[in-house]
Amino acid sequence: MLLNSVDLFKKSEKYIPGGVNSPVRAFRYVNRTPFFVDRAKGPYIYDVDGNRYIDYVCSWGPAILGHAFDPVIEAVKEACCRGLTFGAPTEKELVLAELIQKSMPSMEMMRLVNSGTEACMSAIRVARGYTKRDKIVKFVGCYHGHSDGLLVKAGSGLMTESISDSSGVPSSYAKNTLLAEYNNIESVKSLFEKYGDDIACIIVEPVAANMGVVPPDIDFLKYLRVITQQYGALLIFDEVITGFRLALGGAQEFYSIKPDLTTLGKIVGGGMPLAVYGGRKDIMNCVAPIGSVYQAGTLSGNPIAVTAGIETLKYLINNPNIYSVIDKAAGKLEKAYLDIGVKVNRVGSLLSPFFTNKQVKSYDDVMTSDRDCFIKYFDFMLNSGIYVAPSQYEAMFVSLAHDNDIIDKTVDCIMKFGESI
Ligand SMILES: *Cc1c(COP(=O)(O)O)cnc(C)c1O
Repeated sequence: MLLNSVDLFKKSEKYIPGGVNSPVRAFRYVNRTPFFVDRAKGPYIYDVDGNRYIDYVCSWGPAILGHAFDPVIEAVKEACCRGLTFGAPTEKELVLAELIQKSMPSMEMMRLVNSGTEACMSAIRVARGYTKRDKIVKFVGCYHGHSDGLLVKAGSGLMTESISDSSGVPSSYAKNTLLAEYNNIESVKSLFEKYGDDIACIIVEPVAANMGVVPPDIDFLKYLRVITQQYGALLIFDEVITGFRLALGGAQEFYSIKPDLTTLGKIVGGGMPLAVYGGRKDIMNCVAPIGSVYQAGTLSGNPIAVTAGIETLKYLINNPNIYSVIDKAAGKLEKAYLDIGVKVNRVGSLLSPFFTNKQVKSYDDVMTSDRDCFIKYFDFMLNSGIYVAPSQYEAMFVSLAHDNDIIDKTVDCIMKFGESI
């Protein structure tokens, strides 16, 4: 007998905490249980209950070409037949590194790893090893994976003595994570005035996209570049979402700001578990075996993941007009939200509607959003065959597979939702 989503969820809860392998998949924010996926193709995701949804989650970002993109699938199939993992170097790792370097010139040297979490954790270790300093600055509402020192935010307001959001993180770790407020230059300045000589790096999402989309003030990003240079700290752009999303060269190309180190994930693996950290050669020379900062991985540079990454990047590089196409498509969605009186932030093909009266420029603004209203919206969209992220604090991702027809259908649906509220 075939199990439906509810059955599968109940059974999964027995073996897997919350029935899911990553918390936001549980649909708790929207008071539901998740659908279980059968397959996905192009703009659509299909659940085991026989429903088809237009997918704006896109696996949380990777699926910029749409799901199961043929050239990627074909190349992966072929790569599988040659062996799944070798634990030894392959030419493909070099090919991927070269494609990344050409797209994003600041990536002079890089390491391939398996997840964005690992990339951010490793980049910070390198920044600490290079500067011989312990403290790092991160921003409230920015997500850089779940490594110990990064699971820290401050609630509202600037806090210099941080506590972790997660139990299981020793306070001695959290203490080295200083918190500043996104788009707030003063909050960064005061941390550097107090701790400047102990700060190894600032890590930032150049477009915040893990509290919903919050675009940066360009002066804010420029200030981060200046103050880090002034104090001999490094600037790390976490481009796990924005890399190959806003432009081939990511947010650093989009805003013309060159970080010292960059982390990539999501799109760079073309849907497989692959992420990258890298940047200035003199810094990356600190990494073992040539330097003293240790970082390793049994499956790092996995040939299947690297193949999916190469095919995805090659397609983007050969079809650079994709960025204006998905920008336009996202612009139509943005307009629809504005037309029904919902606030919306958009940068390129990343966008988020916010159910609030405020213009959203900071974490505090995000927190004014109305959850009940979001739940109504989520239900309405899902019942209409459109899957948006089950949380107000996640971005909406537009892919190449979201063609005019798909976008028009979505716009209609947003307008109907507007009539219902
Ligand atoms: C998703 C994400 C991460 C973590 O990547 P994982 O592959 O989930 O570990 C880190 N930084 C940003 C900006 C992300 O969006």
